[in-house]
Amino acid sequence: AESTFTGPRKVLLAAPRGYCAGVDRAVVAVEKALETYGAPVYVRKEIVHNRHVVETLQEKGVIFVEEADEVPEGALLVFSAHGVSPAVKDLAESRSLQTIDATCPLVTKVHREAVRFTRDDYEILLIGHEGHEEVEGTYGEAPDNITIVNGPWEVDDLQVRNPEQLIWLSQTTLSVDETMETVQKLRERFPKLQDPPSDDICYATSNRQAAIKKVAPQSDLVIVVGSENSSNSVRLKEVAKEYGAARAERVDYANQVDEAWFQEAATIGVTSGASVPEVLVDDVLRLLADYGYGKVEEVVTAEEDIVFSLPKEIRKALTQAG
Ligand code: SF4
Repeated sequence: AESTFTGPRKVLLAAPRGYCAGVDRAVVAVEKALETYGAPVYVRKEIVHNRHVVETLQEKGVIFVEEADEVPEGALLVFSAHGVSPAVKDLAESRSLQTIDATCPLVTKVHREAVRFTRDDYEILLIGHEGHEEVEGTYGEAPDNITIVNGPWEVDDLQVRNPEQLIWLSQTTLSVDETMETVQKLRERFPKLQDPPSDDICYATSNRQAAIKKVAPQSDLVIVVGSENSSNSVRLKEVAKEYGAARAERVDYANQVDEAWFQEAATIGVTSGASVPEVLVDDVLRLLADYGYGKVEEVVTAEEDIVFSLPKEIRKALTQAG
């Protein structure tokens, strides 16, 4: 098969892309749990929001459940990278489950902020997508004290108790630009609004968005590898469009790439979300090469060297295993 475009064709490959430190840690934690304790290992919700990762772990003996009450008494349950509310931890404890907490340390940081600012009598505006697991977990730290703000369009109708004692926090995987817009609108309404002590949108989310912002304006088509329920992957597609990609599409697998997308394309940008293994990007690049886009230039906007140590429960088990 050939593209109808006959000029020089190339791929711009965004970097950083793919796995972040929190996803790597969560996936390795489940693999180590399987090795150490044997199947089945139960995981609450998808360990990370990627179809390939979830299906691969299922084949190895992981059973994904929606809630801790589906797990047999006393069994081993892993909490996903997105974090859990205290109520979920209590439920697991009431069923005498052995738990491994694979919550990303950068999500835990937001939980701690929610607890601390509640204790200090601040009311919290949590910018994030209602219904997303991470937001449910953070919200659950102080449900009476947190209001979820989905985006700038919700600011006008917000009700707060005391505009003098307000702070905003956010989900880790939002659009940096849209979040700033929300905060600006919030500040117009509540001039005393305080900022969090440090960014809640994590380094991986902002680095991947910065890279695609550089790639998108030069691309006729941007392909984002990532799952539909992956917040940061979906943001990458939106950011690509905002920054001038003529077209942006998201796929889980190379076989979902439609050749109609690049009929007229000279340059195709490629990136992947923070939960996407590089093998899936390799598959897309191989497919594009088959269509004449064999020349790949990497566009590097940052270097990442962050690594998180494994969850303490796993480190302990590994030490005991010798
Ligand atoms: Fe952690 Fe960010 Fe990765 Fe989420 S995207 S797991 S917050 S590093």
